[in-house]
Amino acid sequence: MNRIEVVQGDITQQKVEAIVNAANESLLGGGGVDGAIHRAAGPQLLEECRALGGCPTGQCKVSKGYRLPAKWVIHTVGPIWGGGTHREAESLASCYRNCLETAVKNGIKTIAFPSISTGAYGFPVQQAAQIASAEIQDFLAQDRQIEKVRMVCFDAPTLGTYRTAFGLQ
Ligand code: ADP
Repeated sequence: MNRIEVVQGDITQQKVEAIVNAANESLLGGGGVDGAIHRAAGPQLLEECRALGGCPTGQCKVSKGYRLPAKWVIHTVGPIWGGGTHREAESLASCYRNCLETAVKNGIKTIAFPSISTGAYGFPVQQAAQIASAEIQDFLAQDRQIEKVRMVCFDAPTLGTYRTAFGLQ
């Protein structure tokens, strides 16, 4: 069974147990994926996020999904691209790893990721896709709980880049 899917779509519409939010350190909402998730989940999400007390780059925190089809939101904070010499690659890898570890700890079997850091945070898409591919595949090779990891790309060029990085046509 293939446990990895790479699709084009809107992360807020995904019928999986958990979606990942590309949040900022405040966890108090922003643009892009973060704004879309807060709009779709409703105001209770922001209320819960206020109590989470922020999140450092590379780590993640879990909330409920409220009005979303997904039961859980795993908020992770990707690195802001600063040219590549500020451990951006390591931070992005740890976002994927920590979200998957957190999913396992919460009994989650299906999870969808957006393209973390490649919007407002400016991380080069090709390198980000390679990091996502390596981290997700390494994780699944040693895990038996997660049944589905879906990469959800918003536009066609991003989809093409991720499909190539994951070795799909
Ligand atoms: P970051 O601040 O981590 O860079 P952004 O939200 O600005 O995060 O962008 C990350 C990626 O998510 C970009 O490729 C952007 O096009 C994409 N994106 C924006 N809205 C959505 C959405 N509703 N579903 C999936 N991906 C989205």
